[in-house]
Amino acid sequence: MQFYMPTKLYSEQDCIKNHAEELVTFGSRAMIVTGKHSSRANGSLADVEIALKNEGVPYIIYDDVEENPSIETIMKAKEIGLQENVDFVIGIGGGSPMDAAKAIALMIANPEETEEVFYEPKQLDYLPVICVPTTCGTGSEVTPYSILTIHKQRTKKSIKHKIYPALALLDASYLKSMPRRGLVHTSVDALAHLIESYLNTNSNDWNRVYSAQGLRVWAQFKRNLLDDELKEEDYEKMLRASALAGMAITHTGTSLPHGLSYAFTYEQGYSHGKAVGMFLAGYVSIYKDKTVVQEVLELLGFENIVEFKKYMKELLGPILVDKEVLQNSVRKIMADAAKLKNYPFAVTEEELLTMVEV
Ligand SMILES: [Zn+2]
Repeated sequence: MQFYMPTKLYSEQDCIKNHAEELVTFGSRAMIVTGKHSSRANGSLADVEIALKNEGVPYIIYDDVEENPSIETIMKAKEIGLQENVDFVIGIGGGSPMDAAKAIALMIANPEETEEVFYEPKQLDYLPVICVPTTCGTGSEVTPYSILTIHKQRTKKSIKHKIYPALALLDASYLKSMPRRGLVHTSVDALAHLIESYLNTNSNDWNRVYSAQGLRVWAQFKRNLLDDELKEEDYEKMLRASALAGMAITHTGTSLPHGLSYAFTYEQGYSHGKAVGMFLAGYVSIYKDKTVVQEVLELLGFENIVEFKKYMKELLGPILVDKEVLQNSVRKIMADAAKLKNYPFAVTEEELLTMVEV
């Protein structure tokens, strides 16, 4: 058993403003890593800029991070970061900018390394990373994971290095400008993290503190999310569930739904949340220890699997699953011992194929 959760976290309204002084203790020249639009629309980028200006810390903005960031994007940012002499990185946005910020922090700290190093088991330092999440799914603000798109392999893959953010600043008000679809999909990603962590080879009493509590919090807003009637306090709960889920998977990793999902994001363009969400009811159904499955359903406030399945279907809407993509993804995962090991039982190709309706 190992337990390690080194990220310092604040969660409150005006979080960035309140902790600006601490934010600038991590370096003297910042690189802000973000996407093109949402951090400008929800005010998070402006809040970070004001904080840095007030504290007199220079910064550059790298806003070329696409959804599911590629290795090419990271390498481009590395060059800019080196030219500009930055010494800490601030990731603002959803999983994509935060994961990119981690990989960029690794590459800037190791200028002699090439992109091959992402998938080599090597102990390397990295620049301090600060995360400001503006979605409620990835939990990347507290996880050590950075998932990058490898175009050569037509998929996404978590890099080998564990990069823990030094500081996470959570302010739920940034969620309010998110379109409903984004809120649903990212919340479903958090739900997947909670379920896959609870139903995992690596789960134990220590990390289930996070997954169980995350599931309880998720249960509190699930009806309002489905009915599109989110209340003020729900946004904070969604962000909290997402961070708790991140802490849970930091200790357990994810499992079959995540493993099967990546091909659908790459080949069919499904958002990460939708791609993992479509396997969740199937995962709960094939999971062999029905006592633990019942625990999950109870924490989430569902009577049984049928009720859970119905909820997921209503929440995600109709999904067209390409049979060939599914078959390829199943075959790939069956050949990947590292991906199967988080599922505590033997599993067959047929079982995996039943995890989603084609
Ligand atoms: Zn995920």
